Amino acid sequence: MPRPIQAFIHPAALQHNLARLRQAAPDARMWAVVKANAYGHGIERVYDSLRAADGFALLDLDEAQRIRDLGWRGPVLLLEGAFEPRDLELCSRLDLWHTVHCEAQIDWLSRHKTQLPHRVFLKMNSGMNRLGFAPDRFRTAWTRLNALPQVDEISLMTHFSDADGERGIDHQLAVFGRVTADLPGERSLGNSAAVLRHAATAGVVSDWIRPGIALYGSSPDDPHHSMADWQLQPSMSLRSRIIGIQHLQPGDTVGYGSQFRASQAMRLGVVACGYADGYPRLCPNGSPVLVQGQRTRLVGRVSMDMVTVDLTDLPNAELGSEVTLWGRASTGEVLPIDEPARAAGTIGYELMCALAPRVPVSVSDGVTP
Ligand SMILES: *Cc1c(COP(=O)(O)O)cnc(C)c1O
Repeated sequence: MPRPIQAFIHPAALQHNLARLRQAAPDARMWAVVKANAYGHGIERVYDSLRAADGFALLDLDEAQRIRDLGWRGPVLLLEGAFEPRDLELCSRLDLWHTVHCEAQIDWLSRHKTQLPHRVFLKMNSGMNRLGFAPDRFRTAWTRLNALPQVDEISLMTHFSDADGERGIDHQLAVFGRVTADLPGERSLGNSAAVLRHAATAGVVSDWIRPGIALYGSSPDDPHHSMADWQLQPSMSLRSRIIGIQHLQPGDTVGYGSQFRASQAMRLGVVACGYADGYPRLCPNGSPVLVQGQRTRLVGRVSMDMVTVDLTDLPNAELGSEVTLWGRASTGEVLPIDEPARAAGTIGYELMCALAPRVPVSVSDGVTP
């Protein structure tokens, strides 16, 4: 029998979350962001559920090829554009739209031989200081691009640094608005947090929204809002089973480094899931887990293949009982991925993306495994 750990990808949750984002931005077209292999879910596993989007956005050329191989003929956007000149050949061949964020990419385009001109998204660095043209260089870049026979329509984009936080997006919106006021072309600004938190701010819900994380049922601004606050559903569940039981006496310790010491008699469950499965080693004592759909806590350090959980108040839990590390239990209860992520000092994005290749994945809505 294989090790009992398993991940589930839930099509109905993906469809629900997509519809939820549509509802937040009813007039916008939607890029479903599927970079990082659909945030760890697997592009092929989410494709059918997300094809109600208007296009797919990603940044790896192999992933773009995979989307085309699945039969998608609609728009595909490379969020970081070409990494080297010959990437433009694939853009021509697969009809990929691509971001242009620096001068070198314009140079490469100007030397690129193509039958069909490319649709490009010109990116402004409106304050995040990652990719994009500085505001005072943006119009020059636009003019240069606009003069190239290799270029078809030019859309305008930027990305927010604080859509999920205190500082918000107004400072970047103001810069973007001022510089692009009289430029033609479609606009693309909002990620999940911008769409869910700032949809009422003029200009945010532009021609194309670009949600990623909310599609996968993690709150983009945890802990300010939970997944449930945003009416999202988990699209990935990581479940395993109890493979051992221990009885502790007061003073007994658990696991490597004796990080946990029992102050009373305790019943402990040993779960077949460890950091080699993608469960964060940084999850401390007390991190939440579900056993048979009921909340309990991690005790002791996460090891490579196992974690240990407190069963003292769960007398019915036994060898083989189901443990949900994140997502939905087979009985329907939900542990948002944001909770173990927060316990580990990180975000749901990182946990999804780090699901280890050794974990078998099935695509299933069924609440009964
Ligand atoms: C990843 C990414 C997104 C999606 O962000 P979420 O926070 O997951 O919604 C949107 N735009 C760009 C440019 C990105 O890189």
